[in-house]
Amino acid sequence: MSTKDWLEKDYYKILGVSSDAKPEEIKKAFRKLARENHPDANQHNPEAERKFKEISEANDVLSDPAKRKEYDEARRLLGVGFRFPGSGSGGGGPSMDDLFRNVGDSNLGDIFGGLFGGGGRRASQARGPRRGHDIEGEVTIDFVQAVEGATVSMQTVSETACPTCHGTGARPGTAPQVCRACQGSGMQTSTSGGMFSISEPCEVCHGRGLVIEDPCPTCGGSGRGRSTRTMQVRIPVGVTDGQRIRLTGKGSPGENSGAAGDLYVTVHVRPHPVFARKGKQLTVKVPVTFAEAALGAEIDVPTLGGQKVRLRIPAGTPSGRTLRVRGKGAPTAKGEPGDLLVTVEVEVPKALNSEASDALRAYAELAGGGDPRAKLFEDAR
Ligand SMILES: [Zn+2]
Ligand SMILES: [Zn+2]
Repeated sequence: MSTKDWLEKDYYKILGVSSDAKPEEIKKAFRKLARENHPDANQHNPEAERKFKEISEANDVLSDPAKRKEYDEARRLLGVGFRFPGSGSGGGGPSMDDLFRNVGDSNLGDIFGGLFGGGGRRASQARGPRRGHDIEGEVTIDFVQAVEGATVSMQTVSETACPTCHGTGARPGTAPQVCRACQGSGMQTSTSGGMFSISEPCEVCHGRGLVIEDPCPTCGGSGRGRSTRTMQVRIPVGVTDGQRIRLTGKGSPGENSGAAGDLYVTVHVRPHPVFARKGKQLTVKVPVTFAEAALGAEIDVPTLGGQKVRLRIPAGTPSGRTLRVRGKGAPTAKGEPGDLLVTVEVEVPKALNSEASDALRAYAELAGGGDPRAKLFEDAR
């Protein structure tokens, strides 16, 4: 049965009950009518047969709380006795456009999804508390902010109904039309598979049951718009570049006192000119002279805050060796900082004055030590 049928038929009238009838009243009315019109009691009576089908259909919907809720919601939104355009039963009611205008911005996609798409799939969500949507966002922060944690303001973009067409996707003044291919059911059944018939979303309307003939110029027919808002976001200590963090309850507000959705923030971290990170260790490359590396030295190295810390370079330290300064790494949420890993890089002077050159030649002669590449050639063999 299509949504169109659903909305055009007044099931309450068919069962002769009021629209606020209690379940017992509906049950009683159905039993009485079913008895009167039952095929066993009315053989060769097509009118009773039709009536029996109709009351069964009405009972199907009204006796199922979820279906009844959706049916009521649909009729509330579209107006009782509303005729779809092109359904041939005459019009007179308000236009589709007016009706959708009254719906406001309350997740039209979902309402459409429930009414015109997957049948009763969303029936339980049609009313009552509904959790807000999750929102995705991105933020770029400095290295220091990532290490220490920070509160930053960020813009989030969330999807709402298009403000021009109020989510219908149709140009204002026009209305979406019931899909001719599927008669508004949103489903098509193919029997090409032999014995089996397969139901799948209608190709023409993509399961919506409606087609947009004159699309809204703002959203191009999608019915979707975007809303931007700025909020303060707490970035926890120690995030890494590309990490996605979840902020519970910072997404779209819920409806009917439903919980708010979550905000997911992908964090980009600007690289630091001096420091990098390896978990809770901070790393830094520190140039040393050949003399410092060869003779050993005490040097100052910077920490993240810009303070100096004293580091002893042992005599004979090769270029590329990493030394550890305890407790000067990244702070952690638990308060015990990591270490600072200092990689020494022996710097070779680009130019020497003549005295320095002479001294270095004299050093080379004195140091001796033979050919430093001899072992390399030996090993290469
Ligand atoms: Zn269709
Ligand atoms: Zn639009």
